[in-house]
Formats: sequence, structure tokens, C-alpha cells
Amino acid sequence: MAAITLTDIQKRYPDGFHAVKGVSLDIADGEFVILVGPSGCGKSTLLRMIVGLEDISEGELTIGGERVNERAPRDRHLAMVFQNYALYPHLTVFENIAFPLRLTKGQFTEEQIREKVSFAAKTLELQDHLDRKPANLSGGQRQRVAMGRAIVREAQAFLFDEPLSNLDAKLRGQMRTEIARMQRRLGTTTVYVTHDQTEAMTLGDRVAVLRKGELQQVASPRALYEHPVNLFVAGFIGSPPMNFLPGEVSGDVLRLPIADVPISAALRQRLGDRRLVIVGIRPEHFEDGAVASRQNREGGVTFHADVDVTEWLGSDLFAYIPFETNPQVAGKLEELDRDLDGEGLRTQLVVALASDSRVRDGDDA
Ligand code: ATP
Repeated sequence: MAAITLTDIQKRYPDGFHAVKGVSLDIADGEFVILVGPSGCGKSTLLRMIVGLEDISEGELTIGGERVNERAPRDRHLAMVFQNYALYPHLTVFENIAFPLRLTKGQFTEEQIREKVSFAAKTLELQDHLDRKPANLSGGQRQRVAMGRAIVREAQAFLFDEPLSNLDAKLRGQMRTEIARMQRRLGTTTVYVTHDQTEAMTLGDRVAVLRKGELQQVASPRALYEHPVNLFVAGFIGSPPMNFLPGEVSGDVLRLPIADVPISAALRQRLGDRRLVIVGIRPEHFEDGAVASRQNREGGVTFHADVDVTEWLGSDLFAYIPFETNPQVAGKLEELDRDLDGEGLRTQLVVALASDSRVRDGDDA
């Protein structure tokens, strides 16, 4: 096992496209780090550079303290698990897992191979399927065989490139738990690429958020959620995404399209002489007013809104509330929107309420 260090890593593809722009990241020995970001942000490119499938244009990559920029993939002692598993259909599960060991041509005795495969199969609960062919396995079992291969190699680190994206939602959930359990059991340094929020938030010790080839923030899932460093991270982490509302400072009050909110002395100080601000409110930080008053909760700001559409999901109820933007602040929002590639500007508020809330479509709630 080993630490992986990226120092000012750049990737320029032969056509000149600058896909990774100065990424520096220290991944500790045994750590589970997630690379997350929208499609095309460079996460697979970064992973492929670590594993050696893509040249590094500039910067330094070390594994276990040694520079490996010029080292061939097989000499980096990493194990990569791909989205499509890359299993051999004509080989049994046993032979698929044993494959990397057989490739070493005589380095392992048959007994050693048997031992290593048996350990991997036990770790992944595949003991009963060793004689089957991949075609006779479920998607999740195939995924485990692919992971078994990574385990027998006793790699210095595991690299996953969206390994669960081909699976249905239920299986994805199961495999997520399994990967987390396996990583904890083996304690192997792991780098995992995904664009799935839930995987990012539940699997990793730390999450690295990328946008257009640049690292935005590297932090624990909780720190990302509670203290995003910029609007992009704030809008990217969380589902449904954070609401961004235009706010106008007026004396001791912040005027939002939905309500006027009193400004505390501390906030007043932080705002300085700013007049227009973007206010981020997570959907789950709203509450049905009727519930709040029943429970005598104080300190919130109550507002009335016309609910356009509701979605009942069993655990939550999402209410969509259109809002009008004061033309004076519309320009500010457009600026934000340009910066966020059309992701920022929202014309409706999404509110997540407890699923037993009484709010209905068309209600004045
Ligand atoms: P996705 O989630 O869609 O897989 P990603 O974040 O993994 O996206 P990459 O595959 O790393 O993105 O690609 C990053 C950028 O580099 C993209 O804009 C992509 O079009 C570009 N790119 C990838 N491979 C090449 C290549 N061989 N030549 C030129 N540009 C490339």
C-alpha cells in the first residue's frame, strides 16, 4: 500500500486541449479519495494519468514516495477496476481472478494462486461461484470478480473508474456498501472516480471536486456540504441542489424573492457595504410552517408561497415554488449563471419537507 502524491499535474492532449490544469493532491496511505465533477471535468484523465494509461504533460506523480511519471503501468503496481469489468467470458470466475497472477509467468506456484484466489473470493463472498462463467453471474457478482482481480495483485492502490454506472439503482446501492466494506477491511489506498453524488458523499474519506480540469475543493463529505468554498461546489454537492436566490441588503433586512430576512450583527459585518448578494439555501433547510408551529419551533422566518408542483418520495416531499426576480438584481444572477455554465440561475425554489407534510400542488403553503 502506498501514498499517492500529485504535484501541479497538467494534461494537454495532442490536439492542444488542456484537460487537467495544475492539480495538486496528497492521498494518504490507506485513504479513500473520490474524484467527482460534471462530465468532461477531467476526472478520468486524472485517474488514467495515475495508472499510467495517459502521459502526464507536466507536474510530478509519486507513489510510495517514488516518482513514477515515466514508469510503465504494470510497474506502478496499481489495480484499476473499469466500468465494463473487462472480464474474460470464456474463463471461470476462478481463472478470471487468477489471471493477473498467471500473467507473471511462473512467479507464483499453483498452490499460491489457489490461496490468493481463495482469499479474494472469501473477502468478496464469491466462494460458491468460482466455477461459473461471467455470463452466468449477476452484474454485481461480475463487479466483484473484477475487484477480486485487483485484490490478488496485492496492488499498492485500487483505482476505480465509475465502476457502478452500468448497474441498476438497487444493485448500485448494494455494491457501494460492498466497496466501502472491502476497502475498510483491506485498508488499501483507493482513488474512485464518479459523477454520482451519493457515491461521492458516502464512500470517501475525502472528496476532490473538479471543474473544467481544476480542483475546486478537497474535503470530507461533511465539510463540503457544510462549508463549500464557492458557488460551484455549493451547487454541485447536495440533491436536490442548493437554491440560489438573489438577495438585496436593505438596512437590517435581506430582501429575498420569498421573504425578508433579518440580518444579524455578525452577518451585517461580513456583508460590509455589499448591496446585492447570492443567498444559498439548501432544500432540506426549509420546513412546513404548520409543523414548525405545532412543535413551537422559534427563530425561523415564515413565508407563504404558491406551490407549483409537489413530488412525494416516501421519505421526503419536494415542493417546487416559482419565484420572480427583481429586475434590479437580475443582472447579478446572469453573471452567476455565466460563471456556472447555466447551472446557477434558478427560477424556482425547491423545498424538501417531511413526507407527512400536508402541502399539495397548487396550495398556498
Ligand atoms: P465523464 O464523466 O464524461 O467520463 P470526465 O470528467 O471523466 O468525464 P475526461 O474523460 O477526463 O472527463 O475528459 C476531460 C476532457 O478531455 C473532456 O473535455 C474530453 O473531451 C477531453 N478529452 C478526453 N480524451 C481526449 C483526447 N484523447 N484528446 C482530446 N481531448 C480529450
